Amino acid sequence: MNAPSIDIAILGGGLAGGLIALAFAAHRPEVRVAVFEQGARCGGDHVWSFFGSDVEAGAQILEPLIAARWEGYDVRFARRRRTLKAPYHSVTSEKLDTAMRAALSPERLLTGVPVTQAGRHEVRLADGRSFAAGAVIDARGAAGLPHMSGGWQKFVGQMLRLSAPHGLTRPIVMDATVAQHDGYRFVYALPFSAHEVFVEDTYYADDPWLDRAGLRARIADYAAAQGWQVDAIAYEEAGVLPVIAAGDFDAFWRATDSGTAAKAGIRAALVHPLTSYSLPIALRFALHLCTLDNLSAQSLEDAGHAWAREHWRQGRFYRMLTRMLFGAAVPDDRHKIFQRFYGLSEPLIERFYAGRSTPVDMLRVLAGKPPVPVGAAIASLAGRGHPLASLGDTA
Ligand SMILES: Cc1cc2nc3c(=O)[nH]c(=O)nc-3n(C[C@H](O)[C@H](O)[C@H](O)COP(=O)(O)OP(=O)(O)OC[C@H]3O[C@@H](n4cnc5c(N)ncnc54)[C@H](O)[C@@H]3O)c2cc1C
Repeated sequence: MNAPSIDIAILGGGLAGGLIALAFAAHRPEVRVAVFEQGARCGGDHVWSFFGSDVEAGAQILEPLIAARWEGYDVRFARRRRTLKAPYHSVTSEKLDTAMRAALSPERLLTGVPVTQAGRHEVRLADGRSFAAGAVIDARGAAGLPHMSGGWQKFVGQMLRLSAPHGLTRPIVMDATVAQHDGYRFVYALPFSAHEVFVEDTYYADDPWLDRAGLRARIADYAAAQGWQVDAIAYEEAGVLPVIAAGDFDAFWRATDSGTAAKAGIRAALVHPLTSYSLPIALRFALHLCTLDNLSAQSLEDAGHAWAREHWRQGRFYRMLTRMLFGAAVPDDRHKIFQRFYGLSEPLIERFYAGRSTPVDMLRVLAGKPPVPVGAAIASLAGRGHPLASLGDTA
């Protein structure tokens, strides 16, 4: 084994692992951080988006990762069209990889190296090498969320190159005027340049099965309906993300314990329960780790566990809404929940996406005539509604 010249070894150079490495490089450059990523580059193939209002601190860490930004965004429903003011930003995995290579020397950023085994002070790679470290953080993503239940947000997104300008000046974060299939369906469109638009066909569905061919065809239909002529598809991504309605956090934590000091990202359930988004949450956690005086394995383990537990506690309201969405609303009526939600005030909507809803916000979200049958809502909250899927196997 090599000499222990690493203070913190991060397993997985995805969103969470990458942001921890960048946060330490920016705020604690004396801490010797190393990242071990199985892919040829960090971050895989992703466009990660977030609202400007989601990020209170650490904006300078995200700045070099941002590929596009817009002032405001639109939502479209059968009975509501609205432009909201919150700035919207998109980060790409390509830029994450570039920033990580700028921040970490090649000895500290190892790509193309699957980790086969890890402990609190040790990392073993598939090529036989071993590294000693003061502490190890597991940020290798997750293949499922055991001991949790809910549904899925699944999608295929394509960057379309058009023969003529599309005419959009800001993103359409939800276009739910499209035909409803497989739960709640909406299209998401990001105008990256005058001739380039990223179009994602998205579903809040009861099962994780992704009909890639079908979704590609619907993206083509959507483009045609807008009058866009597609010259090329420059990039494609797909996702099947867990939407969390309920769970046993302690059992989950034990089940995903890989013996390392701490966990980060989706492996620690550090996601928004209803939107499945994690970028602002990953950034907050990365910044928190940088504030710790003690970076020993025990300290990181305790701090990571306490943070994830508190995040779980704060997610109670969003899990309850997920239970209503999946347990009370018949799939074809799920769009009504979002249509109503987007009639609420902008600050409330911003706090909702940031995972910072106040008690008054919660009352406002729940007040008034519910968009789902009252009996079904009560039954779902009492655990007697439409049965929820286990999130243990697929994510
Ligand atoms: C296509 C897609 C789009 C998304 N869009 C958004 C969005 O717009 N906004 C948002 O907030 N969230 C988004 N999400 C949700 C969420 O933010 C992502 O899933 C996020 O990438 C999770 O971060 P993570 O670091 O936990 O996992 P990942 O980013 O998946 O990182 C895990 C990393 O670990 C590596 N790894 C795995 N096993 C090993 C091993 N044995 N050895 C070494 N390395 C290993 C993987 O290669 C990967 O790079 C999206 C998810 C997907 C799939």
